[in-house]
Amino acid sequence: SEPPVALGIDVGTSGVRVAALDAAGDMVAGEAQPFAPEADRAAPDIWWQATATCLDRLRSAISFEAITGLAVDGTSGTMLGLDADGAPVGRAIMYNVPCPDAAIVAAIDTAAPSDSPARGANSALARAIALMRRPGVVRVLHQADWIAARIAGFTGVSDTNNALKTGYDPVAETWPDWIEAAGMPVAALPPVVAPGTPVRRLGRAASERFGLPPDAFLHAGTTDGCASFLATGASAPGDAVTALGSTLVLKLFCDRPISAPQYGIYSHRLGDLWLVGGASNSGGAVLRHFFADADLARLTAQLAPDRPTGLDYYPLLTPGERFPVNDPAFAPRLTPRPQDDTIFLQGLLEGIARIETMGYRKLDALGAPPLRSVRSVGGGAVNMAWTQIRRAMLGVPFLPARASDAAAGTARLALGRNALP
Ligand code: ADP
Repeated sequence: SEPPVALGIDVGTSGVRVAALDAAGDMVAGEAQPFAPEADRAAPDIWWQATATCLDRLRSAISFEAITGLAVDGTSGTMLGLDADGAPVGRAIMYNVPCPDAAIVAAIDTAAPSDSPARGANSALARAIALMRRPGVVRVLHQADWIAARIAGFTGVSDTNNALKTGYDPVAETWPDWIEAAGMPVAALPPVVAPGTPVRRLGRAASERFGLPPDAFLHAGTTDGCASFLATGASAPGDAVTALGSTLVLKLFCDRPISAPQYGIYSHRLGDLWLVGGASNSGGAVLRHFFADADLARLTAQLAPDRPTGLDYYPLLTPGERFPVNDPAFAPRLTPRPQDDTIFLQGLLEGIARIETMGYRKLDALGAPPLRSVRSVGGGAVNMAWTQIRRAMLGVPFLPARASDAAAGTARLALGRNALP
């Protein structure tokens, strides 16, 4: 028979991607379907159509007979309300939409422990409670839960990563009692299992609609952020992934959970380990403010990474920083600006690299294991001069990211037993 294949489906901010991995974790095939520019990204049916398009295309590229498992990731915190028949009621409330009802947020702040990730205007639990107030809504699911439920034709389950900001306690492995006090009926929340757990067979619905093997397993999924971390191949405590995108995001595999809400730090459970992350307001958006990508590439060729500029920038576009320092009034430092753009750029790259170094030191001070390796993803990862500057500051091996797309990381969850540490 054919060698086994696992599918990962990533429902992201701009579209859906599907990755097929073989048992060794190598990519066999992939498909992507962006959402149309005019499409309503909060309409569950838009997600579903893009998912179906990817699966239908993939079916003509590879044999579905070989598929043994499938898992789905979605944007963290995107919630939808369902009626008694399991149909979505209206639009979803997206991950980046603050809860419009201040009373809901206040009720959560009163009921939740002080370090709960479900606190604040961006709480997924607040979105869930707001959805429950819509006429006809009897329960809620996260975006990834719903896509998986629809593929496998059942009511749905969630995973500890998607459920974290909805208030689920990944240490006690339960929906805590305070959730009811905050105004959310626990019975209206999905059951939660660890990411990668085999949940059920895909069954007849998946087989009839997509030609997927009915005996293949649906595995519990994760969030898009955790999935892109898993895709890189990071696998042991101390393995870090730095995302050099519009913002600077640090993620580190830890042997214990770390929680520091004042820095925006929470821990996602992945297998026996914990994924700890922190996001700075600095990052590529500052570079893009001063330089077009083509200029960045041109100027980078003239940098002298082994000769530090001595500039002491803290690159930010507006005042305010959350991590590695928590100070809403924190001032950007971008002066003095030298006449030579090459030196200015190197100063910016050094500044962001210094924030990265401070960030990993901060995680260390909060109880993380020692940094062991760094993998780099995002638009800035291609910049070798920057890599050289960062490696000199961090002093640990820099490893290539195996992949960076969330779909590949989620497919790893569907590979089975040994997919997670
Ligand atoms: P996003 O977080 O928006 O998905 P990307 O991962 O696409 O971001 O990265 C975009 C960022 O990468 C931009 O802010 C840009 O300034 C930065 N970037 C692009 N090319 C380079 C380069 N050669 N060196 C450093 N940064 C770069």
